[in-house]
Amino acid sequence: MTSSTMKTTMKALQYTAIGTKPIIVEIPIPVPGPGQVLLKVTASGVCHSDEFIMSLPAEAYTFGLPLTLGHEGAGIVHTLGAGVTNVAVGDSVAVYGPWGCGRCHNCSLGNENYCTNAAAEGIQPPGLGAPGSMAEYMLIDDARHLVPLGDLDPVATVSLTDAGLTPYHAIKMSLGKLGAGSTAVVIGAGGLGHVGIQIIRALTSATVIALDVSEAKLALAKDVGAHHTLISDGNAAAEIRRLTGGLGATAVFDFVGAQPTVELAVAAVAVQGDVTIVGIGGGTVPFSFFTIGYEAAVRTTYWGSRAELMEVLDMARLGQLEVEIETFTLDDGPRAYERLYEGSLRGRAVIVPNA
Ligand code: NAD
Ligand code: ZN
Ligand code: ZN
Repeated sequence: MTSSTMKTTMKALQYTAIGTKPIIVEIPIPVPGPGQVLLKVTASGVCHSDEFIMSLPAEAYTFGLPLTLGHEGAGIVHTLGAGVTNVAVGDSVAVYGPWGCGRCHNCSLGNENYCTNAAAEGIQPPGLGAPGSMAEYMLIDDARHLVPLGDLDPVATVSLTDAGLTPYHAIKMSLGKLGAGSTAVVIGAGGLGHVGIQIIRALTSATVIALDVSEAKLALAKDVGAHHTLISDGNAAAEIRRLTGGLGATAVFDFVGAQPTVELAVAAVAVQGDVTIVGIGGGTVPFSFFTIGYEAAVRTTYWGSRAELMEVLDMARLGQLEVEIETFTLDDGPRAYERLYEGSLRGRAVIVPNA
Protein backbone atom coordinates (compact mmCIF):
# COMPACT_ATOMS: atom_id res chain seq x y z
CA MET A 1 0.00 0.00 0.00
CA THR A 2 1.39 3.44 -0.90
CA SER A 3 1.29 6.37 1.48
CA SER A 4 -1.43 8.09 -0.62
CA THR A 5 -3.84 5.19 -0.14
CA MET A 6 -3.15 5.29 3.63
CA LYS A 7 -4.40 8.89 3.81
CA THR A 8 -7.65 9.09 5.77
CA THR A 9 -8.54 12.78 5.34
CA MET A 10 -8.73 15.08 2.33
CA LYS A 11 -9.25 18.70 1.41
CA ALA A 12 -12.63 19.80 0.08
CA LEU A 13 -14.15 23.11 -0.99
CA GLN A 14 -17.36 23.49 0.97
CA TYR A 15 -20.24 25.90 1.32
CA THR A 16 -20.72 25.77 5.08
CA ALA A 17 -23.28 28.43 6.07
CA ILE A 18 -25.93 30.52 4.24
CA GLY A 19 -24.52 33.75 2.86
CA THR A 20 -20.85 32.86 3.41
CA LYS A 21 -18.04 32.28 0.90
CA PRO A 22 -16.97 28.68 0.20
CA ILE A 23 -13.92 27.55 2.20
CA ILE A 24 -11.33 24.77 2.18
CA VAL A 25 -11.90 22.20 4.92
CA GLU A 26 -10.27 18.89 5.89
CA ILE A 27 -12.77 16.00 6.01
CA PRO A 28 -12.58 12.18 6.08
CA ILE A 29 -12.02 10.42 2.75
CA PRO A 30 -15.27 8.54 2.11
CA VAL A 31 -15.24 4.74 2.03
CA PRO A 32 -17.33 3.25 -0.81
CA GLY A 33 -20.17 1.01 0.35
CA PRO A 34 -21.67 -1.83 -1.70
CA GLY A 35 -22.20 -0.75 -5.32
CA GLN A 36 -20.35 2.55 -4.83
CA VAL A 37 -17.10 3.81 -6.37
CA LEU A 38 -14.47 6.15 -4.94
CA LEU A 39 -12.77 8.44 -7.49
CA LYS A 40 -9.52 10.32 -7.08
CA VAL A 41 -10.69 13.58 -8.65
CA THR A 42 -8.78 14.75 -11.74
CA ALA A 43 -10.89 17.84 -12.50
CA SER A 44 -13.92 19.77 -11.30
CA GLY A 45 -15.73 22.54 -13.19
CA VAL A 46 -17.13 25.77 -11.72
CA CYS A 47 -20.72 26.47 -12.83
CA HIS A 48 -22.79 29.62 -12.47
CA SER A 49 -25.49 27.47 -10.80
CA ASP A 50 -23.15 27.11 -7.79
CA GLU A 51 -23.15 30.88 -7.48
CA PHE A 52 -26.93 30.81 -7.70
CA ILE A 53 -27.45 28.27 -4.92
CA MET A 54 -24.98 30.10 -2.67
CA SER A 55 -27.07 33.26 -3.15
CA LEU A 56 -30.30 31.63 -1.93
CA PRO A 57 -31.83 32.61 1.41
CA ALA A 58 -32.10 29.85 4.04
CA GLU A 59 -35.79 29.19 3.30
CA ALA A 60 -35.13 28.49 -0.40
CA TYR A 61 -31.88 26.49 0.06
CA THR A 62 -32.42 22.70 -0.23
CA PHE A 63 -28.92 21.32 -0.85
CA GLY A 64 -27.74 20.55 2.70
CA LEU A 65 -24.91 22.07 4.76
CA PRO A 66 -22.03 21.71 4.73
CA LEU A 67 -22.05 21.07 0.96
CA THR A 68 -18.94 19.94 -0.93
CA LEU A 69 -19.32 21.86 -4.19
CA GLY A 70 -18.73 20.63 -7.75
CA HIS A 71 -21.33 19.11 -10.09
CA GLU A 72 -18.93 18.81 -13.04
CA GLY A 73 -16.51 16.03 -12.13
CA ALA A 74 -13.93 13.64 -13.54
CA GLY A 75 -11.58 11.24 -11.82
CA ILE A 76 -9.57 8.05 -11.75
CA VAL A 77 -11.34 5.03 -10.26
CA HIS A 78 -9.55 4.55 -6.92
CA THR A 79 -11.54 2.01 -4.84
CA LEU A 80 -14.49 -0.21 -5.69
CA GLY A 81 -17.29 -0.96 -3.26
CA ALA A 82 -18.45 -4.57 -2.87
CA GLY A 83 -20.03 -6.00 -6.00
CA VAL A 84 -18.86 -3.32 -8.47
CA THR A 85 -17.62 -5.04 -11.62
CA ASN A 86 -18.25 -2.76 -14.58
CA VAL A 87 -15.45 -0.25 -13.94
CA ALA A 88 -11.86 -1.03 -12.95
CA VAL A 89 -9.37 0.66 -10.64
CA GLY A 90 -7.33 3.10 -12.76
CA ASP A 91 -10.08 3.89 -15.29
CA SER A 92 -10.30 7.58 -16.25
CA VAL A 93 -13.98 8.58 -16.10
CA ALA A 94 -16.37 11.52 -16.28
CA VAL A 95 -19.26 11.77 -13.81
CA TYR A 96 -22.82 11.93 -15.11
CA GLY A 97 -24.24 14.42 -12.62
CA PRO A 98 -28.07 14.35 -12.67
CA TRP A 99 -28.36 11.19 -10.61
CA GLY A 100 -31.69 9.37 -10.59
CA CYS A 101 -33.06 6.13 -9.17
CA GLY A 102 -32.06 4.04 -12.19
CA ARG A 103 -35.39 2.18 -12.18
CA CYS A 104 -38.17 4.57 -13.30
CA HIS A 105 -39.21 4.97 -16.94
CA ASN A 106 -37.17 8.15 -17.47
CA CYS A 107 -34.07 6.62 -15.86
CA SER A 108 -34.49 3.52 -18.04
CA LEU A 109 -34.27 5.82 -21.06
CA GLY A 110 -31.08 7.34 -19.63
CA ASN A 111 -32.97 10.55 -18.81
CA GLU A 112 -31.99 10.48 -15.14
CA ASN A 113 -32.21 14.30 -15.18
CA TYR A 114 -35.98 13.77 -15.13
CA CYS A 115 -36.10 10.85 -12.66
CA THR A 116 -39.59 10.62 -11.21
CA ASN A 117 -38.40 9.07 -7.91
CA ALA A 118 -35.44 11.32 -7.11
CA ALA A 119 -37.36 13.83 -4.99
CA ALA A 120 -39.23 11.19 -2.98
CA GLU A 121 -36.07 9.13 -2.41
CA GLY A 122 -33.90 12.16 -1.56
CA ILE A 123 -31.52 11.53 -4.47
CA GLN A 124 -29.54 14.70 -5.29
CA PRO A 125 -26.68 15.33 -7.74
CA PRO A 126 -23.11 15.53 -6.47
CA GLY A 127 -22.31 19.15 -5.62
CA LEU A 128 -26.04 19.93 -5.47
CA GLY A 129 -26.92 17.90 -2.39
CA ALA A 130 -24.59 14.90 -2.43
CA PRO A 131 -20.86 15.64 -1.82
CA GLY A 132 -19.39 16.99 -5.07
CA SER A 133 -16.15 16.93 -7.03
CA MET A 134 -14.33 19.89 -5.42
CA ALA A 135 -12.33 17.55 -3.19
CA GLU A 136 -9.39 15.22 -3.54
CA TYR A 137 -11.76 12.21 -3.60
CA MET A 138 -15.39 11.82 -4.56
CA LEU A 139 -17.94 9.10 -3.82
CA ILE A 140 -20.10 7.89 -6.73
CA ASP A 141 -23.39 6.22 -5.77
CA ASP A 142 -23.43 3.82 -8.72
CA ALA A 143 -20.98 2.88 -11.48
CA ARG A 144 -23.64 3.62 -14.11
CA HIS A 145 -23.01 7.31 -13.40
CA LEU A 146 -19.48 6.99 -14.79
CA VAL A 147 -18.68 7.42 -18.48
CA PRO A 148 -15.24 6.37 -19.76
CA LEU A 149 -13.00 9.26 -20.80
CA GLY A 150 -10.31 7.08 -22.36
CA ASP A 151 -7.61 9.29 -23.82
CA LEU A 152 -9.53 12.55 -23.40
CA ASP A 153 -7.79 15.04 -21.09
CA PRO A 154 -10.03 15.22 -17.99
CA VAL A 155 -9.09 18.84 -17.23
CA ALA A 156 -9.93 19.96 -20.78
CA THR A 157 -13.19 17.98 -20.95
CA VAL A 158 -14.67 17.83 -17.42
CA SER A 159 -16.97 20.78 -18.17
CA LEU A 160 -18.63 18.82 -20.94
CA THR A 161 -20.51 16.98 -18.14
CA ASP A 162 -22.64 20.12 -17.70
CA ALA A 163 -21.47 23.08 -19.82
CA GLY A 164 -21.42 20.63 -22.78
CA LEU A 165 -24.26 18.25 -21.92
CA THR A 166 -26.82 20.94 -21.05
CA PRO A 167 -26.53 22.98 -24.29
CA TYR A 168 -26.21 19.74 -26.30
CA HIS A 169 -29.54 18.49 -24.94
CA ALA A 170 -31.17 21.92 -25.50
CA ILE A 171 -29.88 22.19 -29.07
CA LYS A 172 -30.85 18.61 -29.96
CA MET A 173 -34.50 19.44 -29.28
CA SER A 174 -34.37 22.06 -32.08
CA LEU A 175 -32.11 20.20 -34.52
CA GLY A 176 -34.96 19.43 -36.93
CA LYS A 177 -35.55 23.16 -37.42
CA LEU A 178 -31.94 24.27 -37.84
CA GLY A 179 -31.47 23.44 -41.51
CA ALA A 180 -29.82 25.53 -44.21
CA GLY A 181 -30.88 29.16 -44.07
CA SER A 182 -31.91 28.96 -40.42
CA THR A 183 -30.65 31.21 -37.62
CA ALA A 184 -29.72 30.22 -34.07
CA VAL A 185 -29.35 32.89 -31.40
CA VAL A 186 -27.20 32.19 -28.34
CA ILE A 187 -27.74 34.60 -25.42
CA GLY A 188 -24.82 34.52 -22.95
CA ALA A 189 -21.43 33.41 -24.26
CA GLY A 190 -20.05 32.14 -20.95
CA GLY A 191 -19.35 28.57 -19.85
CA LEU A 192 -22.44 26.98 -21.43
CA GLY A 193 -22.88 29.46 -24.26
CA HIS A 194 -19.41 29.17 -25.76
CA VAL A 195 -19.78 25.38 -25.92
CA GLY A 196 -23.32 25.74 -27.28
CA ILE A 197 -22.05 27.84 -30.20
CA GLN A 198 -19.61 25.07 -31.14
CA ILE A 199 -22.33 22.40 -30.90
CA ILE A 200 -24.64 24.40 -33.19
CA ARG A 201 -21.80 24.91 -35.68
CA ALA A 202 -20.87 21.21 -35.67
CA LEU A 203 -24.41 19.79 -35.91
CA THR A 204 -26.29 22.32 -38.05
CA SER A 205 -25.96 24.71 -40.95
CA ALA A 206 -27.57 27.57 -39.01
CA THR A 207 -26.15 31.07 -38.95
CA VAL A 208 -25.18 31.75 -35.34
CA ILE A 209 -25.80 35.13 -33.68
CA ALA A 210 -24.25 35.38 -30.20
CA LEU A 211 -25.20 38.00 -27.61
CA ASP A 212 -23.55 39.01 -24.37
CA VAL A 213 -23.13 42.13 -22.25
CA SER A 214 -19.33 41.84 -22.36
CA GLU A 215 -17.15 42.59 -25.40
CA ALA A 216 -14.61 40.03 -24.13
CA LYS A 217 -17.28 37.29 -24.17
CA LEU A 218 -18.36 38.36 -27.66
CA ALA A 219 -14.73 38.01 -28.78
CA LEU A 220 -14.75 34.46 -27.37
CA ALA A 221 -18.05 33.80 -29.19
CA LYS A 222 -16.45 34.86 -32.49
CA ASP A 223 -13.38 32.71 -31.77
CA VAL A 224 -15.51 29.60 -31.27
CA GLY A 225 -17.60 30.09 -34.40
CA ALA A 226 -20.35 32.70 -34.04
CA HIS A 227 -21.06 34.41 -37.39
CA HIS A 228 -22.38 37.62 -35.79
CA THR A 229 -22.06 39.04 -32.29
CA LEU A 230 -24.26 41.67 -30.68
CA ILE A 231 -24.28 43.48 -27.38
CA SER A 232 -27.36 42.26 -25.52
CA ASP A 233 -29.36 45.45 -25.03
CA GLY A 234 -32.69 47.01 -25.93
CA ASN A 235 -31.75 47.18 -29.63
CA ALA A 236 -30.73 43.55 -29.95
CA ALA A 237 -34.11 42.10 -30.98
CA ALA A 238 -34.44 44.66 -33.81
CA GLU A 239 -30.88 43.91 -34.88
CA ILE A 240 -31.64 40.16 -35.01
CA ARG A 241 -34.69 40.93 -37.19
CA ARG A 242 -32.49 43.04 -39.45
CA LEU A 243 -29.85 40.28 -39.75
CA THR A 244 -32.57 37.74 -40.62
CA GLY A 245 -34.36 39.86 -43.23
CA GLY A 246 -37.23 40.51 -40.82
CA LEU A 247 -37.94 36.82 -40.08
CA GLY A 248 -36.38 36.50 -36.65
CA ALA A 249 -34.45 33.59 -35.16
CA THR A 250 -35.38 29.97 -35.87
CA ALA A 251 -34.19 29.01 -32.38
CA VAL A 252 -33.10 31.09 -29.41
CA PHE A 253 -31.04 29.48 -26.63
CA ASP A 254 -31.07 31.72 -23.57
CA PHE A 255 -28.12 30.84 -21.31
CA VAL A 256 -28.98 33.71 -18.95
CA GLY A 257 -32.75 33.54 -18.41
CA ALA A 258 -32.95 36.97 -16.77
CA GLN A 259 -35.82 39.42 -17.34
CA PRO A 260 -34.19 41.33 -20.24
CA THR A 261 -32.99 38.16 -21.98
CA VAL A 262 -36.26 36.22 -21.89
CA GLU A 263 -38.01 39.35 -23.24
CA LEU A 264 -35.38 39.56 -25.96
CA ALA A 265 -35.71 35.84 -26.77
CA VAL A 266 -39.46 36.06 -27.27
CA ALA A 267 -39.17 39.31 -29.27
CA ALA A 268 -36.52 37.81 -31.56
CA VAL A 269 -37.98 34.37 -32.31
CA ALA A 270 -39.46 33.61 -35.74
CA VAL A 271 -42.89 32.18 -36.55
CA GLN A 272 -42.69 28.42 -35.71
CA GLY A 273 -39.42 29.01 -33.88
CA ASP A 274 -38.18 27.68 -30.53
CA VAL A 275 -37.18 29.57 -27.40
CA THR A 276 -35.27 27.39 -24.95
CA ILE A 277 -34.51 28.94 -21.57
CA VAL A 278 -31.46 27.29 -19.99
CA GLY A 279 -30.28 30.06 -17.65
CA ILE A 280 -31.90 30.20 -14.24
CA GLY A 281 -32.20 33.99 -13.99
CA GLY A 282 -35.93 33.63 -13.29
CA GLY A 283 -37.19 36.15 -15.88
CA THR A 284 -40.81 35.86 -16.99
CA VAL A 285 -42.70 36.81 -20.15
CA PRO A 286 -46.40 36.89 -20.92
CA PHE A 287 -47.42 34.16 -23.36
CA SER A 288 -50.52 34.89 -25.41
CA PHE A 289 -51.84 34.91 -28.94
CA PHE A 290 -50.48 38.44 -29.34
CA THR A 291 -47.05 38.24 -27.68
CA ILE A 292 -45.08 35.70 -29.75
CA GLY A 293 -44.88 34.49 -33.36
CA TYR A 294 -47.44 31.90 -34.47
CA GLU A 295 -46.58 28.33 -33.45
CA ALA A 296 -43.45 29.47 -31.65
CA ALA A 297 -42.70 27.35 -28.57
CA VAL A 298 -41.12 28.32 -25.27
CA ARG A 299 -39.56 25.73 -22.99
CA THR A 300 -37.10 25.35 -20.15
CA THR A 301 -34.62 22.49 -19.88
CA TYR A 302 -32.44 20.81 -17.25
CA TRP A 303 -29.10 19.05 -17.93
CA GLY A 304 -29.25 15.98 -20.27
CA SER A 305 -29.27 12.19 -20.57
CA ARG A 306 -26.53 9.63 -19.91
CA ALA A 307 -26.37 8.76 -23.61
CA GLU A 308 -26.10 12.44 -24.53
CA LEU A 309 -23.05 12.78 -22.26
CA MET A 310 -21.43 9.99 -24.26
CA GLU A 311 -22.35 11.82 -27.47
CA VAL A 312 -20.85 15.13 -26.29
CA LEU A 313 -17.63 13.35 -25.32
CA ASP A 314 -17.59 11.76 -28.78
CA MET A 315 -17.79 15.25 -30.30
CA ALA A 316 -14.71 16.20 -28.25
CA ARG A 317 -12.91 13.07 -29.50
CA LEU A 318 -13.59 14.21 -33.07
CA GLY A 319 -12.22 17.66 -32.29
CA GLN A 320 -15.63 19.29 -32.81
CA LEU A 321 -15.63 20.91 -29.35
CA GLU A 322 -13.02 22.61 -27.27
CA VAL A 323 -13.80 24.08 -23.86
CA GLU A 324 -11.95 27.31 -23.16
CA ILE A 325 -10.63 26.77 -19.63
CA GLU A 326 -8.74 28.51 -16.89
CA THR A 327 -7.36 26.17 -14.21
CA PHE A 328 -7.16 26.65 -10.44
CA THR A 329 -5.79 24.54 -7.59
CA LEU A 330 -8.25 23.40 -4.93
CA ASP A 331 -6.79 25.97 -2.51
CA ASP A 332 -7.54 28.66 -5.13
CA GLY A 333 -11.13 27.42 -5.55
CA PRO A 334 -12.64 30.38 -3.68
CA ARG A 335 -10.81 32.67 -6.14
CA ALA A 336 -12.39 30.83 -9.09
CA TYR A 337 -15.83 31.72 -7.69
CA GLU A 338 -14.80 35.36 -7.24
CA ARG A 339 -13.68 35.45 -10.88
CA LEU A 340 -17.00 33.91 -11.98
CA TYR A 341 -18.86 36.51 -9.95
CA GLU A 342 -16.77 39.34 -11.46
CA GLY A 343 -17.47 37.99 -14.96
CA SER A 344 -13.76 37.97 -15.74
CA LEU A 345 -13.42 34.29 -16.72
CA ARG A 346 -12.99 33.38 -20.38
CA GLY A 347 -14.95 30.13 -20.80
CA ARG A 348 -14.94 27.81 -17.79
CA ALA A 349 -12.95 27.69 -14.54
CA VAL A 350 -11.67 24.18 -13.78
CA ILE A 351 -10.32 23.16 -10.37
CA VAL A 352 -7.59 20.52 -10.39
CA PRO A 353 -7.65 19.09 -6.83
CA ASN A 354 -4.71 16.70 -7.10
CA ALA A 355 -2.46 18.98 -9.18
P1 NAD B 1 -21.41 32.04 -17.04
O1 NAD B 1 -21.33 33.04 -15.96
O2 NAD B 1 -20.20 31.28 -17.42
O3 NAD B 1 -22.00 32.72 -18.37
C1 NAD B 1 -23.08 33.61 -18.37
C2 NAD B 1 -22.82 34.61 -19.49
O4 NAD B 1 -23.97 35.43 -19.64
C3 NAD B 1 -21.65 35.56 -19.22
O5 NAD B 1 -20.79 35.58 -20.34
C4 NAD B 1 -22.32 36.90 -18.98
O6 NAD B 1 -21.51 37.99 -19.42
C5 NAD B 1 -23.57 36.75 -19.85
N1 NAD B 1 -24.67 37.65 -19.50
C6 NAD B 1 -25.03 38.13 -18.30
N2 NAD B 1 -26.12 38.93 -18.43
C7 NAD B 1 -26.43 38.96 -19.74
C8 NAD B 1 -27.44 39.59 -20.50
N3 NAD B 1 -28.36 40.38 -19.93
N4 NAD B 1 -27.46 39.38 -21.83
C9 NAD B 1 -26.56 38.58 -22.42
N5 NAD B 1 -25.57 37.95 -21.75
C10 NAD B 1 -25.52 38.14 -20.43
O7 NAD B 1 -22.59 31.03 -16.59
P2 NAD B 1 -22.81 29.49 -17.04
O8 NAD B 1 -22.13 28.61 -16.06
O9 NAD B 1 -22.56 29.34 -18.49
O10 NAD B 1 -24.37 29.33 -16.76
C11 NAD B 1 -25.31 30.03 -17.55
C12 NAD B 1 -26.69 29.90 -16.93
O11 NAD B 1 -27.18 28.57 -17.09
C13 NAD B 1 -26.75 30.16 -15.43
O12 NAD B 1 -27.99 30.76 -15.12
C14 NAD B 1 -26.69 28.77 -14.84
O13 NAD B 1 -27.18 28.73 -13.54
C15 NAD B 1 -27.55 28.04 -15.83
N6 NAD B 1 -27.39 26.60 -15.94
C16 NAD B 1 -28.52 25.90 -16.20
C17 NAD B 1 -28.45 24.54 -16.41
C18 NAD B 1 -29.68 23.75 -16.73
O14 NAD B 1 -29.65 22.53 -16.69
N7 NAD B 1 -30.77 24.42 -17.09
C19 NAD B 1 -27.21 23.88 -16.33
C20 NAD B 1 -26.06 24.64 -16.07
C21 NAD B 1 -26.17 26.00 -15.89
ZN1 ZN C 1 -24.14 23.58 -13.70
ZN1 ZN D 1 -35.54 7.34 -11.84
